[in-house]
Amino acid sequence: MTETPAKPAAKKTAKKTATKTTTATKTTTAAKKAPAKKTAAATPAAAKKTAAKKAPAKAPAKKAAPARKPESRVAMVRRARRINRELAELYPYAHPELDFGNPFELLVATVLSAQTTDLRVNQTTPRLFAVCPTPEDMAAIPPEQLEELIRPTGFFRAKAKSLIGLSTALRDRFGGEVPGRLEDLVTLPGVGRKTANVVLGNAFGVPGITVDTHFGRLARRFGWTTAQDAEKVEADVAEIFPKSEWTMLSHRVVFHGRRVCHSRKPACGACPIAPLCPSYGEGETDPEKAKKLLKYELGGQPGQRLKPPSDYPGQPALPLAAS
Ligand code: SF4
Repeated sequence: MTETPAKPAAKKTAKKTATKTTTATKTTTAAKKAPAKKTAAATPAAAKKTAAKKAPAKAPAKKAAPARKPESRVAMVRRARRINRELAELYPYAHPELDFGNPFELLVATVLSAQTTDLRVNQTTPRLFAVCPTPEDMAAIPPEQLEELIRPTGFFRAKAKSLIGLSTALRDRFGGEVPGRLEDLVTLPGVGRKTANVVLGNAFGVPGITVDTHFGRLARRFGWTTAQDAEKVEADVAEIFPKSEWTMLSHRVVFHGRRVCHSRKPACGACPIAPLCPSYGEGETDPEKAKKLLKYELGGQPGQRLKPPSDYPGQPALPLAAS
């Protein structure tokens, strides 16, 4: 019974709102070009017409966005190097996240890290290295016993075969020592370019770019490469950075990939290098929600190493039995 007289008023309000909305939209869109006076002078009839024609609120914003110029090679290299500097400030403690005490342990740990986390490898190797501290010991161990020791890392049969094969090769061809040259390392069973670069960079101080899943993903997100193939990614990135930066750059990028720029849910809203990243917006942009996606020391959680370096600001990981 009270609805009939209310109708015209509602219409009037709607008209007014349409006029207001249009005026506001126009003001925002044309803010830079036209003074406010001109916009306010639009007639209600014209405003109504425009409101009816206008697409949803997003359309004018898109129209207003300036077309992005393609980035020159020089600009990309400058931006890439700046990302590296900012990552260095963010992770001054970046390091390999595998626990190791010598080149042989690093080689074994890197082979074990395929298809699993560094944390799981770190939780597995203390027992393994207690039983097999040298290539000679590992070459002589019965395969079933080795499989049991490395079972938590997954794919344990194939990995045991590689470890026995590479330990035998180290014993027979390299005098029980891990060689410090890429061309020798890649001849060992189960050792590819990525593993060889990890060992060279971290046990021998030879600069190397380690393209694992994190590095490849971030290099593409940063616009450093479009390649999917690890060797091509390595070659593209090698042209951007001086050799002296390769090893630490690898650690920093991998650190960022594990903590902030995750594969499925990158925490863009909590990412300190967002202004330098062309892929900003691929993940969560709300700062509060993004903060909850941060991992390891940035998320207040334990790290991956049971024995992290002394400058690591987070907590050490827990041993397998306790985790
Ligand atoms: S802005 Fe987003 S996509 Fe870019 S590096 Fe940060 S988290 Fe990754």
